Amino acid sequence: MRVLIVGAGLAGLVAGDRLRRSGAAVTVLEARDRVGGRTHGIEVAPGAWADAGAAYLGDRHTELLALLAEHDLKTTPTSTEGASRFELGPAADGPLTRPGRFPPLNAVALGELFDRLADLTSLVDVAEPWHTPGASDLDGTTAAEWAEANLRHPDARVFFPLFLGEMMAADPADISVLHMAFYLRSGGGLRYLNAFEGGAQEYRVDGGAHRLCERLAAGLDVRLGSVVTAVHQDAAGVRIRTEDGGAFEADRAVVAVPPVLADGIDFAPGLPATRSTSRTAPGCAVKVHLVYPGPAWRDEGLSGWSVNARGPLLSTVDDSPADSATGARVGVLTGFVTGAEAHHFSALPPGEQRDRARAQARRLYPGLPEPVAVHVTDWIADPHARGCYAALFGPGDWLRLGPRLTAAHGRVHWAGTETSTEFFGLMEGAIRSGRRAAADILNQPGA
Ligand SMILES: Cc1cc2nc3c(=O)[nH]c(=O)nc-3n(C[C@H](O)[C@H](O)[C@H](O)COP(=O)(O)OP(=O)(O)OC[C@H]3O[C@@H](n4cnc5c(N)ncnc54)[C@H](O)[C@@H]3O)c2cc1C
Repeated sequence: MRVLIVGAGLAGLVAGDRLRRSGAAVTVLEARDRVGGRTHGIEVAPGAWADAGAAYLGDRHTELLALLAEHDLKTTPTSTEGASRFELGPAADGPLTRPGRFPPLNAVALGELFDRLADLTSLVDVAEPWHTPGASDLDGTTAAEWAEANLRHPDARVFFPLFLGEMMAADPADISVLHMAFYLRSGGGLRYLNAFEGGAQEYRVDGGAHRLCERLAAGLDVRLGSVVTAVHQDAAGVRIRTEDGGAFEADRAVVAVPPVLADGIDFAPGLPATRSTSRTAPGCAVKVHLVYPGPAWRDEGLSGWSVNARGPLLSTVDDSPADSATGARVGVLTGFVTGAEAHHFSALPPGEQRDRARAQARRLYPGLPEPVAVHVTDWIADPHARGCYAALFGPGDWLRLGPRLTAAHGRVHWAGTETSTEFFGLMEGAIRSGRRAAADILNQPGA
């Protein structure tokens, strides 16, 4: 059997790897000049890598951990030891230092916010969100409208968009309440998703998460620079065309790109219905890496973790690479620009983006020297992502799109983190979706 895979992100590569091991002849068509998709390593100093895309994982990401072990890749704990910085009050107050990660906000108000979110999350039918009791109300309301109606305390109102930005790279105005509750449940629940130690941010992949994609791709026939524009099929098979005039044939295809991008491909016969709508928003994350000669904030008893109502960096985290074998020490503070803030930031010229990031780092960590480099990775402007961390389902999307996300279209099967109801939006979801798509093909009569 011959299978064409569209997209060399984790989902496409895992599907390809599974199918190849089962004896299929697999070709992977990838639009970019690299594999990995939304995992992407940047070399911030010689031999020192930072994750410009996906970075964190935890113990419940069992498929990811198994794949890393299989490919001899190690994890490194995310460093959170020390006090945190918070810039949540009026600008004149400046940032505050607090032990641990709990923000200097009203604890009862935040406790109530989390209780309300937990109540919503517990309602969700995670396997079929569109069958959740009260789904049409939950899907018809935005998270911003829900907050307006339900959050009375000003501290809960300050914290809620920061929390959603951090968890989902979402502007509350862009997503339905059903999507918010589904995402939080699919990812292991509020506590797990929000935690470093024992949670979804416990580890990073040594050398960068993209390494896993590179190892998976090494055993596959991957054609880089192949932007798929058309997927046609009939009783004889599937024919795929690429922007540069390439033509490929196979018995089956797996399209492993975000739904918004898949909808831009010409399918013949046409899809019975689109798999995204005008309300399906791209997630909005810009990652900023501030590179220092070493993690000097640790010497001041600080963890590098900060949460800030004033942007552009709404949170920062210590993503310093594990010390290299040569003993070189590099300090990396990753800044997350998410939600509505990311749209403003994305529109700025690159020089101004770096200046604003530097200015905020000076405010947050006045004891630090100037960073030796500032890298900005803008996923909003990336035409081959359009949805980072993942697509965000707006009002009406789950009810309309949910059942269509995974249903095969003849010889065409779907993968990608957005097609996984387990760990949707995460690397773990991408891997699970790739396995499911491969199994769908291998379970076809005559496969
Ligand atoms: C900034 C950021 C932070 C993140 N943080 C985390 C995290 O900490 N932990 C975590 O688990 N997840 C995180 N994620 C999410 C994670 O990266 C994704 O869930 C996962 O990598 C998605 O894999 P995928 O294979 O489904 O899609 P993708 O990685 O998007 O792969 C799709 C591939 O298809 C290609 N493509 C698109 N269109 C075409 C076309 N027409 N023809 C050919 N090829 C095409 C793309 O170039 C891409 O390579 C983060 C993502 C981002 C961007």
